Amino acid sequence: MKIIMLGAPGAGKGTQAQKIAAKYDIPHISTGDIFRANIKNNTELGKKAKEYMDQGLLVPDELTCDLVTDRIQQDDCKNGFILDGFPRTIPQAEALTNALNKLGTAMDYAIDVDVPDENIVNRMSGRRACLKCGATYHIVTIPPKKEGICDKCGAELVQREDDAPETVQKRLTVYHEQTQPLIDYYKKAGILKTVDGTKDLEDVFKSITDILGA
Ligand code: ADP
Ligand code: AMP
Repeated sequence: MKIIMLGAPGAGKGTQAQKIAAKYDIPHISTGDIFRANIKNNTELGKKAKEYMDQGLLVPDELTCDLVTDRIQQDDCKNGFILDGFPRTIPQAEALTNALNKLGTAMDYAIDVDVPDENIVNRMSGRRACLKCGATYHIVTIPPKKEGICDKCGAELVQREDDAPETVQKRLTVYHEQTQPLIDYYKKAGILKTVDGTKDLEDVFKSITDILGA
């Protein structure tokens, strides 16, 4: 099963992608997590990506597309994968379609987690992230069992720099301009499914598993 998670920053893509990856036993590929790991390790890619991420801008397609098209050809992706945060532009979507075409395959589902802008700022300001395992929490709606500590791996949780309110506004503008057109792209491809992302975590998950099947 090959799945794309679409939706605004903070819609809950990562939260749902982790649960889907566990249920269907497929790798969760988050370009945001890959960039953050590179920043943490101070790699050349990390240094370049940080310049854009700190401003709420997208990392250029040329730094992003090959990363993903290489990753999805690794052995653990044989039975499928879930993409979270990629594609984010039409050229990225086209690069993905072409890469899969060459392999004689295509994506199965693009799931749009629909959350209005007015809910997003709240979600982002309360978000706490584990940079070690990629788990995500919210101080009010999805708190960790022990404040500031990841339930899954015990690492310290952090507030992402790009979750500052001014940067969130910028990211939302970028989303509407550059990423929202993908909804139409995947509608035309016949694989778009939309779920109401304002519901509770488990209700959103149920809507998605109803689409994907057992
Ligand atoms: P994205 O990957 O789309 O940027 P996240 O999965 O990181 O979004 O979720 C953004 C924030 O909203 C996090 O703090 C997360 O814990 C919280 N969140 C995710 N899904 C829900 C939900 N259904 N209800 C309430 N809060 C949620
Ligand atoms: P995310 O963790 O998905 O919210 O991504 C955090 C940031 O990483 C984004 O605001 C972008 O700056 C960058 N990023 C992640 N994925 C992509 C992508 N597919 N294309 C361009 N930039 C990306």
